[in-house]
Amino acid sequence: MYGEAVERLIREFKRLPGIGQRTAERLTFHIVQGSEREGLALADAIRAVKEKARPCAECFTVSERSPCEICSDPRRDPRVLCVVERPTDVLAMEKSGGYKGRYHVLLGAVNLLEGVEPHDLTIDALAERVRQDDRIEEVILATNPTFDGDATALHLRAALEPLGVRMTRLARGLPAGGSLEFASKAILAEALEGRRDYQERRRPS
Ligand SMILES: [Zn+2]
Repeated sequence: MYGEAVERLIREFKRLPGIGQRTAERLTFHIVQGSEREGLALADAIRAVKEKARPCAECFTVSERSPCEICSDPRRDPRVLCVVERPTDVLAMEKSGGYKGRYHVLLGAVNLLEGVEPHDLTIDALAERVRQDDRIEEVILATNPTFDGDATALHLRAALEPLGVRMTRLARGLPAGGSLEFASKAILAEALEGRRDYQERRRPS
């Protein structure tokens, strides 16, 4: 109806998470009606990101260098590893200002309905990292306080338990069903401060 080029851009937008037909059309028409400079700047930004940004080989966060700035910073505490779902969660934790350890990014959360299984995440790489690096004393399971995040934490516990490392989970100050990304700095700092042991409950002997 609008011509092949316009239809194609609508299709591309629709492939992005959270974008349906109407939003895809709105974005497309915004670009069609805007200046050429603006539209091409967007295209250039996408190209640059695809050429330069990639996952860090150690922690899988997105960076223009690998190892990333955090992994290669000798001032970060090598004894604590904070496991989060996405690179945006790393940013949220950094903004909270209370964390000085390192990270591991899972690149998602287990969601069987959407076909995301544990082996689609970087759990194996995490277990390998904990096995190899004997400086790591504590792994903070900082997946989101959602159904998916909790399910993911259980898988992480099963994968890490045999390695004998201490596991903790962020305190429940975070709103249930919310995500780290949208938690306030203060709440996130508090949840980190109040983290609890997250081991398999054993029967008293
Ligand atoms: Zn890294």
